[in-house]
Amino acid sequence: MSNEPRRPGRHFLQIPGPTPVPERVLAAMSRQVLDHRGPDFQRLGKRVLAGVKTLFKTQGHVMIYPSSGTGAWEAALTNTLSPGDRVLMVETGQFAVLWKQMVDRLGLRAEVIQTDWRIGADAQEIEDHLRKDKAKAIKAVCVVHNETSTGCRTRLDDVRRAIDSAKHPALLMTDSISGLAAADLRHDEWGIDVTVAGSQKGLMMPPGLSFTAVSEKAIEASKSATLARSYFSWDDMLAFNDDGFFPYTPATSLLYGLDEAIRLIHEEGLENLFARHERLAEATRLAVRAWGLEVNCRDAKYDSPAVTTVLMPEGHNADAFRKIVLENLNMSLGTGLNKLAGKAFRIAHLGDTNELTVLGALTGVEIGLELAGVPHKKGGVLAAMNYIADCAKPQAAKAA
Ligand SMILES: *Cc1c(COP(=O)(O)O)cnc(C)c1O
Repeated sequence: MSNEPRRPGRHFLQIPGPTPVPERVLAAMSRQVLDHRGPDFQRLGKRVLAGVKTLFKTQGHVMIYPSSGTGAWEAALTNTLSPGDRVLMVETGQFAVLWKQMVDRLGLRAEVIQTDWRIGADAQEIEDHLRKDKAKAIKAVCVVHNETSTGCRTRLDDVRRAIDSAKHPALLMTDSISGLAAADLRHDEWGIDVTVAGSQKGLMMPPGLSFTAVSEKAIEASKSATLARSYFSWDDMLAFNDDGFFPYTPATSLLYGLDEAIRLIHEEGLENLFARHERLAEATRLAVRAWGLEVNCRDAKYDSPAVTTVLMPEGHNADAFRKIVLENLNMSLGTGLNKLAGKAFRIAHLGDTNELTVLGALTGVEIGLELAGVPHKKGGVLAAMNYIADCAKPQAAKAA
């Protein structure tokens, strides 16, 4: 027994992953495990393997590994590349840094376009870099779709156009771990070769599953790529997936949850889901600006629909503020990562959230700013309320 007093009501988990899991997903997972070589599993396997494709907007294969998103990064690199291959990356923030670290560890050679961590990847810079590669030696362009550390989203359609106008054959790989089911993603239409994602962010599931969507070109590349791979070998996975099975014991309980999460997403409608994320993100940014604080993303073109990174005023520590919010208001906010440590906090608005949960979170931030003695103006929550009401008015008028 813990000596901690009970904290009534629900904890506000406002970090950009893991995100709160809806009751229906929790209930779906709370079932007996099953024979993963039997016919019941086969039906489930076929259903989730087909269902997950709709989230990536792809007709191609999506592999589901029992791993965190980081495992899918490794799968993406080791299946398509060979030792010493050159890879173009954009340092949009901490997750780009970590992906690059993996590239280094695997013996690949990264060429990195820097940013100030306040925008997404700039397509023009990618194009310029690729044009200089006359020998077409760069094998892959790796960009983070939604940079969870900075709250900046990269426009993948622009990146695709950049690669095409440079007439470069490099594979396009993207980390959409916090983008999937929060920010629009069109794997096929945008000509993405590998998209990786995870279960614990927009998908509203517990951590534990990763997803890897692959193009035919990526599969072709995997046939000649020579980096060592075993557990994450795509060919084993694809061969078994054809019949709805897996080469080793799949995370059956999580797959029950995935089945339900996909159902929930389609009940809402993907496009409605994206619009909801955009709306709640805008409400959050309006609140931040009304407080007189600064949104880290400095160009609206890159604003993230999933998470808002807020810069703390000089002389105030973001983690001390977060601690006050947690202790007094039972809310977890995201911490600043790497060079944003102590300087920024993050408000997540992705997954199973709605107007009132976001307003509740913003209320907690506004009270927390006061408790922590952070200089700010009142009225952030009010600004968000007004925006949310304006968004709802046409709908309300129709119903009246
Ligand atoms: C969460 C996250 C990761 C790391 O995923 P894990 O599931 O923790 O391995 C990588 N990239 C981005 C953009 C993320 O948001």
